[in-house]
Amino acid sequence: MREPKTVFQRIDDSGLVREHKQHLSWQMRGKREEGQMNLFKAQKMTYIVNTVIFLLVIGLACFFYMLDAPFLLYFSVPTALVYIVGYYLIAKERLHIYVWMVYLWLTLYMCITTVCLGYAYGFHLYCFSMIPVMYVTEYIAYKLERRSLRALYVSMGISLIYLLSTGYVALFGPIYERDQKLAAFFWIFNALIVFGFLIFYTNYLIKMIIGSEEKLREMAQVDPLTKLYNRRYMKKCLDGAKNVETSGFLAMVDIDDFKQINDHYGHAAGDEVLIFVSNAMKTACGECNIARWGGEEFLIYSEKNENGADLMEALREKIATEPVQWEKNTIPVTITVGVSVRKKNQSVEDWIQDADQKLYRGKNSGKNVVVW
Ligand code: GH3
Ligand code: MG
Ligand code: MG
Repeated sequence: MREPKTVFQRIDDSGLVREHKQHLSWQMRGKREEGQMNLFKAQKMTYIVNTVIFLLVIGLACFFYMLDAPFLLYFSVPTALVYIVGYYLIAKERLHIYVWMVYLWLTLYMCITTVCLGYAYGFHLYCFSMIPVMYVTEYIAYKLERRSLRALYVSMGISLIYLLSTGYVALFGPIYERDQKLAAFFWIFNALIVFGFLIFYTNYLIKMIIGSEEKLREMAQVDPLTKLYNRRYMKKCLDGAKNVETSGFLAMVDIDDFKQINDHYGHAAGDEVLIFVSNAMKTACGECNIARWGGEEFLIYSEKNENGADLMEALREKIATEPVQWEKNTIPVTITVGVSVRKKNQSVEDWIQDADQKLYRGKNSGKNVVVW
C-alpha cells in the first residue's frame, strides 16, 4: 500500500513550491550577475588607472634620463615591471593583491623621488591623491564582498611616509641638486595629475554613494514586482493628508478570483496579471498615489476632488474587456473596487476602512463592480 502524501509533498506536487524555488534561484542569479557586473566595472576602472600610471612611469623615466639622475632611471625599471604584473593580477581578478602591490610601490616611488629631487618637483603631492584612491578601493571591495586594506590605516601610513621623506629633504636637502626651471615645470605637471586623481576619485566615490542611496530609497518605497508604492510608503503619504478636512478619494482595488488565476495558469502568470493591473491603474490615474496594499489588493489615493467613481468605473471596464495575454494564454481578469470620498473630519483610518467595506460589499454582490 502506498503511503499517504505529506502536506509538503502535496504542496510540492501543486507546483507552487517548485515555482517559488525557481523564483528564488532567479533572484540569486540576478544577484550573482549584478556582482559580476560590479566586478567587471571595477576591473575596467583598474585597467584604466593602471595604464595611466604605467604611462606616467615611462614618461618620468625619460625625464630622469634627461635630468641625469641615474638611480631614479634604474628605479623606473622595477616600477614599470610592477605595473606590467599589475595587468596580469587584474585579469586574474586578484584586485586585493594588486592594490597592496601597486600602492606600496607607489608610496616607495614617491618617497625615493622626493628624497632624490626634493619637494620642489612636487612628487610628494601624490600622497594626497592616494588617500581618496584608498577609500574608493575599500568601498569597491566592500561592494564586491572582497577583502580589502583598511583605508584608514593605509592613509595614516602614507601620511607618515610623507612626513619622513619631506622631513629628510627639509633637514638634509635633496640628493640631486638640479635645474630649478625644470622643477617648476614638474611642480605644475605633478600638481595637475594629483588634482585630476583627487577630483576623479572623490567624484566617483560620491556618485557611487548617491547611486546606492537612491537604490535603497527605491527599495524602501517601491514594490519590486509592480513598481507601485509599498504599503509603508502609502501610509506615510496618507499621514500627510491627516490635517485636511476633506480631500480627494480613496479606492481599494482587489483582483477577483486571483487565487484561481494562480492555480490555473501558475504563479508567473499571476505575477504578470499583477503587473498588468498595476500598469492599467497608472494609466487610468497618472496623478494618483497608487500602492500595492496587500498581495492582489491595491490602494489608490487621489488628493484632488475628482470624481473617483467614474475614474474607477472606466478602469474596471478597461480591465474586464482587455484580457491579459500571457504565453499563448488569454487570461480574463476583473477587479472589484470600493471608492470612498473623505467626509468632514474623517480620520485616515476610518477613510481606509470605508473604502474596504465598500470593496467587501462589491465582492458579496458578485464582483467585477465599483461600489461608492
Ligand atoms: P477574491 O475574488 O475574493 O478577492 O478572491 P481571490 O482569490 O482574489 O483572493 P484570495 O485572498 O483568496 O487569494 C489571493 C491570492 O493571491 C493568494 C496568494 O497566493 C496570491 N498572491 C499574493 N501575492 C502574490 C504575488 O505576488 N504573486 C502571485 N502570483 N500571487 C500572489
Ligand atoms: Mg482578490
Ligand atoms: Mg484580496
